[in-house]
Amino acid sequence: MIDNKVPPGPLTEKWTRCQQELRLISPSQRNKYHVLVVGAGLAGASAAATLAEQGYRVTVMTLLDSPRRSHSVAAQGGVNGAKNYCNDGDGVYRMFADTLRGGDFRAREAGVYRLAELSARVIDMLVAQGVPFAREYGGSLRNRSFGGVQVSRTFYARGQTGQQLLLGVHGSLLRQVHAGRVCLLTRREMLDLVVVEGRAVGVIARNLLSGALENHAADAVVIATGGYSSVFQLSTNAIRSNASAVWRCYRRGAWFANPCFTQFHPTCVPPFHAAQSKLTLMSESLRNDGRIWVPVQAGDERCPAQIPEEERDYFLERLYPAYGNLVPRDLASRATRSMVEAGRGVGPTAAAVYLDFADALERVGADILKERYGNLFAMYREITGENPCQAPMQICPAPHFTMGGLWVDYHLRSNLSGLFVIGEANCADHGANRLGANSLLQTMVDGAFVLPRTLTHELAERGRSTVCPDDSAFEACRVQCRERIRHLLGGKGQLTPREVHSRLGEILLKYVGVSRSAAGLLSARQEIAGLQAEFEASLGVVGDGESLQEELERAMRVGDFLELADLMCLDAWHREESCGAHFRQEYQTDSGEPLRNDEKFAHLAVWAWNGSGQAATLHREPLVFEELAPVQRKYV
Ligand SMILES: Cc1cc2nc3c(=O)[nH]c(=O)nc-3n(C[C@H](O)[C@H](O)[C@H](O)COP(=O)(O)OP(=O)(O)OC[C@H]3O[C@@H](n4cnc5c(N)ncnc54)[C@H](O)[C@@H]3O)c2cc1C
Repeated sequence: MIDNKVPPGPLTEKWTRCQQELRLISPSQRNKYHVLVVGAGLAGASAAATLAEQGYRVTVMTLLDSPRRSHSVAAQGGVNGAKNYCNDGDGVYRMFADTLRGGDFRAREAGVYRLAELSARVIDMLVAQGVPFAREYGGSLRNRSFGGVQVSRTFYARGQTGQQLLLGVHGSLLRQVHAGRVCLLTRREMLDLVVVEGRAVGVIARNLLSGALENHAADAVVIATGGYSSVFQLSTNAIRSNASAVWRCYRRGAWFANPCFTQFHPTCVPPFHAAQSKLTLMSESLRNDGRIWVPVQAGDERCPAQIPEEERDYFLERLYPAYGNLVPRDLASRATRSMVEAGRGVGPTAAAVYLDFADALERVGADILKERYGNLFAMYREITGENPCQAPMQICPAPHFTMGGLWVDYHLRSNLSGLFVIGEANCADHGANRLGANSLLQTMVDGAFVLPRTLTHELAERGRSTVCPDDSAFEACRVQCRERIRHLLGGKGQLTPREVHSRLGEILLKYVGVSRSAAGLLSARQEIAGLQAEFEASLGVVGDGESLQEELERAMRVGDFLELADLMCLDAWHREESCGAHFRQEYQTDSGEPLRNDEKFAHLAVWAWNGSGQAATLHREPLVFEELAPVQRKYV
């Protein structure tokens, strides 16, 4: 039986009760403990800064040249907080209910409630850090709405919220670096986790500039390495986003939960070039003012301005009148896909739909729109050459966010002692579909509020690790890393890691995309196995591994993606129901909505590694709903 450490008692009191029961460490003793944080995005940087502020010695590493280049910087639309500034009926309970329902009842109730409960404090903290949130004329913070809710609870800084949040958090981190309490290591990539007798005691990292392998020991390890959407190759994630850290933890015994829960964002700029490395997102916030439509007639090739109003289908408004264009992402992506499959897609590949600002332009004018979304409009214009104030945007669904990740309990601890996982890297809170603006929130709730309390408890319970960096466990792990690098560099074939990645992306998009089927998933596994065999036999990576070598980095990440992709297919095949973003064609209502099977699948699917070539073991963590009974989602 999996112990998720959710405390008993009323939902509204669980976190308070949990904190009362967590052990403390006296301020004078904290500097005896060393915490290693891998990843310096919003989750990792806020955790490192907060832990250091409390007096712990912290090392934080990122594979980038600065924490400020972490993928969090790309977040556009906003961060949620249940403050009810708009007096529109919002509150902690409503946010909890929206989030649990938005995730189609595949998240832990207690975690979701805590996310909503702490949201207001996150906003206060960010304001204190100087984040320049949008304000009303009178000075109060302004809110807008996001998908799957009927209130406005999203705080934002134009279309650059992630960047502004990261600047604030980075400031706190640098304060600790200058105070000597945080050691910041850039250009270090975690290659493996060192585990001794079930306890995580450190990592092996590669210095990306010199190629040197380094041993980093710590009393606790925190993984904050973000999501794995880039397994699809073309996604909205940063090019260097990867799954290697979480995958290597999985191979060392950490459990992986719900790997198939991947979100497709409905409003991305369609790919325009075969050699493209990533996709660009157009934030969900645009759907506050933009209206999504397709021509009524299939194959209508007229330019949008020539299509009269009565020949347009504002399909989200038609299908989901209560929420209109702001339905959750899974619904919007699926509806878009149906339109495209019916031949009503637009643009050069007929795979896009329009996002039209004409009404809003008439209502509020171009200046206000630019004030709200200026940088997004500029990005779109730069990429496509078209001005969204003159012609509707063309958008399509694309891989964006991963709700699955390393399994964590209510304390954000994995099943390995000493190993915590925060931010997008874990499986918590979002269920089968994340609501917009809840991820930035989760990074901060995890990093700045929950982890510092629960990690302290763990350190107080377990004491210091006795394993030093020169211990044989580190040496053994380092030898394995070196061997893996040597093996990859030994390949003298013609196949490049990039080619393998792009072919893997095609397989996943075809079979594990917006919709899936049992037959397709089995085909995907076969094709992935074939690609994996080619990767082993025909890869060519030049160089000696002793300097900056991006091709080697890519080869290692792609090798991990191949293994993860197979687990995603297995998980998707195994979950014989549709829920949130996991849409199995075999399980749908008459109107094409996802059909859950609560009797058999109201659980987190928790996978355990059994070695290369061995089938993974499936454990199940039952989801218990004491507060909100699961119902079929209705957004009509
Ligand atoms: C275009 C876009 C827009 C978005 N907009 C919003 C929004 O408006 N609101 C919202 O709530 N969410 C949004 N999201 C989602 C949100 O941005 C992310 O989920 C969140 O920022 C993830 O933060 P993180 O700290 O968990 O990970 P990241 O920010 O991805 O940071 C990961 C860190 O780990 C490091 N790392 C990774 N692997 C290794 C390794 N092996 N070794 C060492 N370091 C490693 C990276 O270098 C980086 O420092 C958006 C996402 C995208 C793609």
